[in-house]
Amino acid sequence: MQQLPAHKVYEVQESKETADAVAYAFLSNTGEPVPYPYKYTKIADDDVRIRILFTGLCHSDCLHSRGLWDPYITYPSCPGHEVVGSVEKVGTGVTKFKVGDKVGCNPQRWMCQTCEQCKKGDNQLCSQNIGLYDDNNFGGYSTHIQVAERMVFRIPEGFNDALGSPLLCAGVTVYAPLKRFYKPNYTCAVIGIGGLGHLAVQYAAKLGMTVTAFTTSKNREQEIKKLGASNLSSSIDKESLKTEQGKYDIVINTLYIEDEEVFKSHQRLTAPTGTYIQVGAPPSKVNFKLDHAYIILNQIRVAGSLIGSYDETQEMLEFSAQNNVYPIVETFEFEEFPKAFDRMEKGQAKFRCVVNVGKWAQANGLWK
Ligand SMILES: [Zn+2]
Ligand SMILES: [Zn+2]
Repeated sequence: MQQLPAHKVYEVQESKETADAVAYAFLSNTGEPVPYPYKYTKIADDDVRIRILFTGLCHSDCLHSRGLWDPYITYPSCPGHEVVGSVEKVGTGVTKFKVGDKVGCNPQRWMCQTCEQCKKGDNQLCSQNIGLYDDNNFGGYSTHIQVAERMVFRIPEGFNDALGSPLLCAGVTVYAPLKRFYKPNYTCAVIGIGGLGHLAVQYAAKLGMTVTAFTTSKNREQEIKKLGASNLSSSIDKESLKTEQGKYDIVINTLYIEDEEVFKSHQRLTAPTGTYIQVGAPPSKVNFKLDHAYIILNQIRVAGSLIGSYDETQEMLEFSAQNNVYPIVETFEFEEFPKAFDRMEKGQAKFRCVVNVGKWAQANGLWK
């Protein structure tokens, strides 16, 4: 078993008065997250301690904290991996960041920088990869987070901190694969206009592609067109999906619809020699079926994608700041964490939930 980085060391406190930080933590797989004050017992040489300004809530936080992913999860569990903040303290060996720098973190907590994937620049696939959910380090549902320097991102000038934190997970999940396979004159189908899809529409349009949004929300036509879609089409109507077959150079599917015929018709939207990207994850027991005949006879490239590499993530932050690409968010106060989580867990949020952490942390003496 590989030794985890040292930044995870903390000690629980009775109250926020003696604490360095306050998290919202789950004490078991049921119930809501509760305030959880803690003190850092050390800062490793390569650690950056971050004051969290804004933190995004992601559906994988539910899957983790409810114990639906990892049967070995231990509690308390503090999820959260969409963080924008500023540097409060650095370890003695930190060279890239200094106190006061605006920074961000994503779901990845460690990369080795020496394995084959890291050497190729695909460090999100690092063989020693540690994700937030692989260790019990406190995540972004907190006033602070301590992360190894190599996994800290620089927030560019002009970035909208209040809106931008979900880009660290949802944004790069769609930006990275679109960027890998696009050409500016391409036609692009975005399937599902939710948390991921409404960002994919914006990135695809800003990259110069002509975008069609496949959705069941015809009533949101104005809003979706404002994001950059030229057309809307049904994501589930079998007849209309048939008429769209083979029209799109890139298809990015943020959904997984269990109806096999619908799922195959999503794949068939891809034009001959085009690229079909699946980012919507089916439940783990699903028998994911590719339309092999269509894929072979039309030389379709099928691609999966996992967040993005360090460089892709940094590039995405800069692209978003320059092109004004941000999610539509509902914003909550720090004390409203349980409410925000509940809305996100029930799928009621439009489109992502963000908590304003910095305001509460500063007012409560946690910026030391
Ligand atoms: Zn996420
Ligand atoms: Zn590696």
